[in-house]
Amino acid sequence: GSRFQVVEQGPPIEVFQLNKAFTEDSYKNKVNLSVGAYRDENGKPWVLPVVRKMEKQMAEDESLLHEYLPVLGLDAFTEASVSMLLGKDNPAIAEGRAFGVQTLSGTGGLRVGAELLNKHLKYDTFYYSNPTWENHHLVFVNSGFTNPRTYRYWDEKTLSIDFDGLIEDLKNAPENSVILLHACAHNPTGIDPCHEQWEKIADVMEERKLFPFFDSAYQGFASGDLDRDAWAVRYFVKRGFELVCAQSYAKNFGLYNERVGNLTVVLSESSHVAPLKSQLTWIVRGMYSNPPAHGARVVAQVLRNDVLFDLWRDHIKFMSSRVMQMREALRAELIKLGTPGNWDHIVKQIGLFSYTGLSRRQSEHLIQEHHIYLLRTGRINICGLNPGNVQYVARAINDAITK
Ligand code: PLP
Repeated sequence: GSRFQVVEQGPPIEVFQLNKAFTEDSYKNKVNLSVGAYRDENGKPWVLPVVRKMEKQMAEDESLLHEYLPVLGLDAFTEASVSMLLGKDNPAIAEGRAFGVQTLSGTGGLRVGAELLNKHLKYDTFYYSNPTWENHHLVFVNSGFTNPRTYRYWDEKTLSIDFDGLIEDLKNAPENSVILLHACAHNPTGIDPCHEQWEKIADVMEERKLFPFFDSAYQGFASGDLDRDAWAVRYFVKRGFELVCAQSYAKNFGLYNERVGNLTVVLSESSHVAPLKSQLTWIVRGMYSNPPAHGARVVAQVLRNDVLFDLWRDHIKFMSSRVMQMREALRAELIKLGTPGNWDHIVKQIGLFSYTGLSRRQSEHLIQEHHIYLLRTGRINICGLNPGNVQYVARAINDAITK
């Protein structure tokens, strides 16, 4: 017998399972609204032209070697990432109390940041929004956090943010709890706090001595504007919070499988930078030793060149406006069909996702009867929609609701 016979089958990861089921489905009108990746108006993945351009150049560049990167990554990349998040004129940068660590995309940034807080600050309680990205819980628990908790976020009745619930839960959080906040384009609900609400959140967190951990996986995707999407993080920095923020380039550069990310760390004093960097070096050393270079080189070159940066900004605008058009189109089709319910939330929500309000049963009906793949919470990826399938999807939603 095998010594591995003690290993039992684990549960499937819903989003990847749906993706596989979609790929294997032979139905010609099938639609994939599950995985959080951009699709063009023909339903195809899109390699950003500026990325292709850099990759072609890099293929010819004999000065690029495959030597190891430093443990904390490529300086050009981490510095550009911190600037993109905080704004290049941010005093925290000028004062030398902000720095970055290159990570394995956003997930890696969360993992490294969480381990830092757990190991060196001895934090063990973290709060995430209910609902949140389905991986937050696991990443923090695997980093050593033993006390996972949720704060209220989504109000099913109003299809909007449960702000009173959120504030009440933060008020009851023990000192030094780590509060996981979505920097923009909240996944899965597509609803962000407004500026006044962020101010109130900051008030409570300051008063209760809570630690902000931002997750920025969609900078540029919420409004189409990189600076506007970083408002909340910059506001917390301005208020004097020390914080960390995991940044992902998976979505805004379309570099999903290259695992390009950064953990930005903002401290109150520059004298703490060196010891923190040395401990982060040991954390990364023991986890994966050092990061990959390809994607970080692409991103660094684009962020540091004005012409390329503008080109990239146009790509982001293009992607985010296509998503907004599809929100409008889906709502219009549902209204045309007279589908019961109010569909304004679809256009009010931002980012890639819409939390439709469809029930588990209705979501399953869409998968089984109409070959439309979505999470069973009713979350759909809006850019899986295009002019060729939005009517089909609206009719199917209508059918699921009126049945
Ligand atoms: N955080 C949120 C909220 C996300 O939605 C995602 C991806 O879907 C991530 C983090 C991490 O993604 P990645 O590790 O691919 O950058």
